[in-house]
Amino acid sequence: MPVTAVGQLRFFRTFDLMNMAIGKLSLEGIGQDRPFVIAGPCAAENREQVLGTAEALSRIGVRYFRAGVWKPRTRPGGFEGVGSIAFEWMQEARELYGLRIATEVATPHHVEAALAAHTDLLWIGARTTASPFAVQEIAEALKGTGVQLLIKNPVSPDLSLWCGAVERFLESGLRRIGLIHRGFSWIGGSSCRNAPLWNLPIEMRRLWPDVTMVCDPSHIGGRRDLVGPLAQQALDLDFDGLLIESHIDPASALSDRGQQLTPKELELTLKSLHRREDAPMPSEVSALRGRIDALDREMIELLAARQEITDSIGRYKKSNDLPLLQSGRYREIIADRARLAREKGLDPDYVTALMETIHDESIRRQVEP
Ligand code: PEP
Ligand code: MN
Repeated sequence: MPVTAVGQLRFFRTFDLMNMAIGKLSLEGIGQDRPFVIAGPCAAENREQVLGTAEALSRIGVRYFRAGVWKPRTRPGGFEGVGSIAFEWMQEARELYGLRIATEVATPHHVEAALAAHTDLLWIGARTTASPFAVQEIAEALKGTGVQLLIKNPVSPDLSLWCGAVERFLESGLRRIGLIHRGFSWIGGSSCRNAPLWNLPIEMRRLWPDVTMVCDPSHIGGRRDLVGPLAQQALDLDFDGLLIESHIDPASALSDRGQQLTPKELELTLKSLHRREDAPMPSEVSALRGRIDALDREMIELLAARQEITDSIGRYKKSNDLPLLQSGRYREIIADRARLAREKGLDPDYVTALMETIHDESIRRQVEP
């Protein structure tokens, strides 16, 4: 299943983060070695749909029930959620089936209504994370509540926006914070609705090592057949849990119809997932890792030598009043290195992305004083 069509390299600039640790959230899993699962419909639509879905999900062991109360639609005219009335149905589901309830909040008014309904878990949607003013307002509304909060990645592949949202909530005193990876809008090709760009959540995990990482394969894939393969990839990348859309009757869903699983399909999907166990590596693997370390050192030496040469060419161009970028030469380099890559059995797109990153850095050093 081609669910990782996008493996583009990204060039992250490191920046200083607020020096505040984030601990793991304690969300219950399904079974011992299984990830925890937050499941439920994209949106709460009516009482029967909420209670029917919640009952079926509780039977397969789901403990966290999600439902959108207000739906942030990119364009007006679509189904925008039923509003606060949904909390009555969700609270009923909590009482009847022993579930905890989760929803998205996008404004201080949503926060107020969700807290009044004692919602157990809140999340910030992708469109909201992209808006610092909205995040700040919600952070202020949540001050002093100690609520559990999951922050989705912003729609665009911008790591600093995602970090900024985490920092705003930390600043307002929240500590029970986790992250949801739901994929990114991407102009390059991807078989997914939102390109996974796995290296971004991996980078967030490097920045906040203990943060709870949840994958939302429903919104990444946008198609029910992609949910399972994407969820497995998330487990292989050591995600802690999954957020999956499930509807008692997906064909009649008012939003995200193509990606919602029936509770039965969810059960089968979860059964098919497995977590590979971490185990000590045999000595052959350690020896191979030693060779990788040596090759990496050599590559860095080579990059430094290459950089020295491009720096001196840059100085020459500046002192002779020549343009910094000669597009013809750049095109030749890219085409030639892609050809070499092909000869060596490497993906030319991979080597092109690498050459672009190297070239970006040379340009940056020549442009910046
Ligand atoms: C959702 O979870 O239903 C949703 C709207 O998601 P996102 O913010 O990821 O688009
Ligand atoms: Mn949805």
